[in-house]
Amino acid sequence: MRQSQLFTKTRKEAPKDEVSKNAELLIRAGFIHKEMAGVYSFLPLGLRVLNNIVGIIREEMNEIGGQEISMTALQDKNLWQKTDRWDDDKMDVWFKTKLKNDSELGLAPTHEEPLTTIMKNFVASYRDLPKAVYQFQTKFRNEMRAKSGIIRGREFLMKDLYSFSRDQKEHDEFYQLAKAAYVRIFDRVGLGSVTYPTFALGGTFSKYSEEFQTICDAGEDIIYVDETKLVAVNKETLTPEVLADLGLNKKTLVEKKGVEVGNIFNLGNKFSKPLELFYVDDKGEKHDVIMGCYGIGPGRVMGTIVEVLSDAKGIVWPREVAPFEAHLIEMKGSEAVSAAAEKLYRDLNKKGITVLWDDRDTRAGEKFADADLIGIPYRIVISEKTMKENKFELKLRTEDEATLVDEATLFQKIQKTS
Ligand code: ATP
Ligand code: MG
Repeated sequence: MRQSQLFTKTRKEAPKDEVSKNAELLIRAGFIHKEMAGVYSFLPLGLRVLNNIVGIIREEMNEIGGQEISMTALQDKNLWQKTDRWDDDKMDVWFKTKLKNDSELGLAPTHEEPLTTIMKNFVASYRDLPKAVYQFQTKFRNEMRAKSGIIRGREFLMKDLYSFSRDQKEHDEFYQLAKAAYVRIFDRVGLGSVTYPTFALGGTFSKYSEEFQTICDAGEDIIYVDETKLVAVNKETLTPEVLADLGLNKKTLVEKKGVEVGNIFNLGNKFSKPLELFYVDDKGEKHDVIMGCYGIGPGRVMGTIVEVLSDAKGIVWPREVAPFEAHLIEMKGSEAVSAAAEKLYRDLNKKGITVLWDDRDTRAGEKFADADLIGIPYRIVISEKTMKENKFELKLRTEDEATLVDEATLFQKIQKTS
């Protein structure tokens, strides 16, 4: 993409009422637009990042047998009354609205009820199970505090996968697969080294649920990390009994702030029982379907990457999620420089490398400052000076020093390894 065509521009200041680092940087760099507290639009660069994160999650969900669907935002009150989650006392984040005839509807804060109902149409016998179904869909939650930028939205994208198993053993097997997929996802988005499976309160059907917590000062959760065992316990869950149960010692745990980037839950028959999702086994006996749910917020992941990896100059994107892999900076000079920049742009694209080509008529200082703020991993500079030597200047966003390289070396350094 040519930067001169991009409709967004960088700006010096974020809105005065924006207090979170992730939103401040993402707004200044032109990735998102703030509509109101907790409500953000994604602009071209931001949508590319969000879609890259979604793409990684989708690959890993397909890998464990997940089947993708898309459910509705509008929700039927009668359905949610069956599980006793319609009352605002039971589900305190509801946004509700009305039809013209005054009957009430809800805007989905989560999707256990509608998916369990869909599955009733297709699950009858033990032969129809197990199944795993997921979606990327907008959730609406009337969150009390929305001060963490895209980490806590009132309207936000969620990947929610739900598993349907015949018994606890079958459920547990899938649960482990999903957990391993989560570890791969957080590795691939660049948060692996600071993200810990964390024991949390589990609700009614298992002792614990597991959160994936990323260590981060902007986090709203307090967790206790065991840095040798690579696990953590949420503060809310930390009791002497739990420590004994998990074989952890309070003395070796370190208190940290964390962002819950994902979580996995055993649901047992919490939804299948009231909504009557059951199957008949090979002896003709009826059983409740055993369910699990597995959430990740792609926007929250994006905000957390910004919080954790950015530096004083701006955002630092890991390659797999970056809006573009290379930022080609053309120092305006002769026609020959422009022609060489265009040729390199096309050659990189042919190799499958995505490039933002800064072909704007602006000062070098401004181009470099923008490149640092936007955070694309490889910066390539082409100018009269580099052309004289038949070379390009290459710099990683994470490094201070640039090096002069010839074309072959450039391609070798920048090519995808996997
Ligand atoms: P929290 O305790 O932070 O409110 P939660 O327990 O309500 O999270 P879930 O309902 O399990 O979260 O949602 C699954 C995932 O969706 C979370 O792990 C998180 O990644 C994401 N998520 C939840 N709430 C939000 C939000 N308000 N904005 C953005 N992402 C969210
Ligand atoms: Mg919540």
